[in-house]
Amino acid sequence: MTQNSKITYEIERIFSQKRKNALEKSEILTNELLSNESYLLAYNKYNSTRFELSKAKFKGDVKLINELKARLNADAELLITIKRELGFNDKDFAVKYECSACSDTGRLESGVRCKCYRKLLHKLTLEELGLERKKLHSFKKASYKDLNDLEKIYTKMQSYCEKFPATDKNIVIAGSVGTGKSYLAKCIANELISRDFNVVFISACELNSILLKYHTAPVDDKGVYLDLLTECDLLVIDDLGSEPIYKNVTEEYLLMIITERMTKGNPFIITTNLEQEQLLDRYGDRTLSRLNDKRHGVFIKIKGEDLRRKRK
Ligand SMILES: [Zn+2]
Repeated sequence: MTQNSKITYEIERIFSQKRKNALEKSEILTNELLSNESYLLAYNKYNSTRFELSKAKFKGDVKLINELKARLNADAELLITIKRELGFNDKDFAVKYECSACSDTGRLESGVRCKCYRKLLHKLTLEELGLERKKLHSFKKASYKDLNDLEKIYTKMQSYCEKFPATDKNIVIAGSVGTGKSYLAKCIANELISRDFNVVFISACELNSILLKYHTAPVDDKGVYLDLLTECDLLVIDDLGSEPIYKNVTEEYLLMIITERMTKGNPFIITTNLEQEQLLDRYGDRTLSRLNDKRHGVFIKIKGEDLRRKRK
């Protein structure tokens, strides 16, 4: 079994379980209702009238059909009345799927994959890669005492989150060690996750290992890794420049990923300690020109001192 089909199989299993759970809740209520004697009587009466009506329709007996239709309405009314008297509400019986967009099938009516499917796919892919979930931070709890002009930057980034994804802006957050770049990126990721966006937050080293996996994977398996990096609503690559450069992998695929994301209008955020020249040396001019592309992005430079040292 390929990695791809293993993950697909697991997703199908999870979705089928979700549907089962949703239906079960409604079934339990129905059984509870049917355990009431007067409801059960009325329910059987309703069903037998319905049966009589279909027989009359088959015979074409118009007079009887009309009589039975009236009786069926009365039977239905009685069911509703008893249901209400017993304290049940029609809404309680509606099947409550976890995802109302796709009724826990993973696909929209148009046939397109639902957002919830992709989210699960990316979660399982990250798990399969052995990448742990990052501990993220909250804008609300961010304390920075406005060193290095951070207040202005934080306000700007909060408004970025509010407008997301109306703007396909990519963000590069540069600055020396300990200026709070990763912290800020984690706040943004956290805020967007709380708004139900599919955010993949990985370190540059982790990106490297995914790219290596992509490079060496059989053709059938490449799709899951590519989907993870190009289809999520936001990709955060933390600490670009800290990873080793793998020949034919790091530079080439990083360019491919960010180009693909830009084409699709899927933003990315990159944090880095590197200066422009160092970025150019490591990743080449095509990648650097995309990182500096002002039409689609902003380059934020956090100046100044190491906040971690300052806090001591
Ligand atoms: Zn869905």
